Amino acid sequence: MTLSTYRKKRKFDRTPEPKGSISDASRRGDSLVYAMQKHMASRLHYDLRLEWRGVLLSWALPRGPSLDPAVRRLAMQTEDHPLEYVGFEGVIPTGEYGAGTVLLWDRGTWQPENLNTDGSLPEREIKFTLLGKKLRGSWVLIHTHSMRENEHRSTWLLIKHRDKYASLMDVTLEKPRSVASRRLLAEIARDGGGDVRRASMGDPAGLARRATRASTTRQRGKTRRSG
Ligand code: MN
Repeated sequence: MTLSTYRKKRKFDRTPEPKGSISDASRRGDSLVYAMQKHMASRLHYDLRLEWRGVLLSWALPRGPSLDPAVRRLAMQTEDHPLEYVGFEGVIPTGEYGAGTVLLWDRGTWQPENLNTDGSLPEREIKFTLLGKKLRGSWVLIHTHSMRENEHRSTWLLIKHRDKYASLMDVTLEKPRSVASRRLLAEIARDGGGDVRRASMGDPAGLARRATRASTTRQRGKTRRSG
């Protein structure tokens, strides 16, 4: 577990992301934190983060999660992130790594369902329970391809197990807002001085335009009253 790749990719005098620290095992007894971030970068994706041994194991999901057990969603493992990242939402400036808008899409805790006898996570299949606001119940991450020499990432599939939380509802479309601020991507971009038009491309069609238009009208109203 190391944050060196995470830190190497970022300039902390420019990005609002946390530099972070690796916490010791003093959190033992507490539950493990979980987050899913919706990230409009060069491409829209969702970032799954699971706390493990002082860092957040991370996977980028190009199409986000699905509640349908028949659907397998690609999950590319990315560099470990600091624990502080579970609360991150905002704008990563143009030119920086991961430039774009980050929305805290889901947050909660998680529990591994299967562990090796030495207490480590399984290499091939991680079965786990999510206790988030939007994602709950049992899931599995299946490791399909390891890193090759010139590849940065290993490939996994995220699949929902059959339980009472399985559903055919498209949760990414039905529940697009931040669990932290109720904002859409476009509203986070606007508040953080980011690219609103580009961020809105990650929001459900129509919703973002209404949201940003409404807030612009409110802003104008405020200006008029105060002026
Ligand atoms: Mn990302």
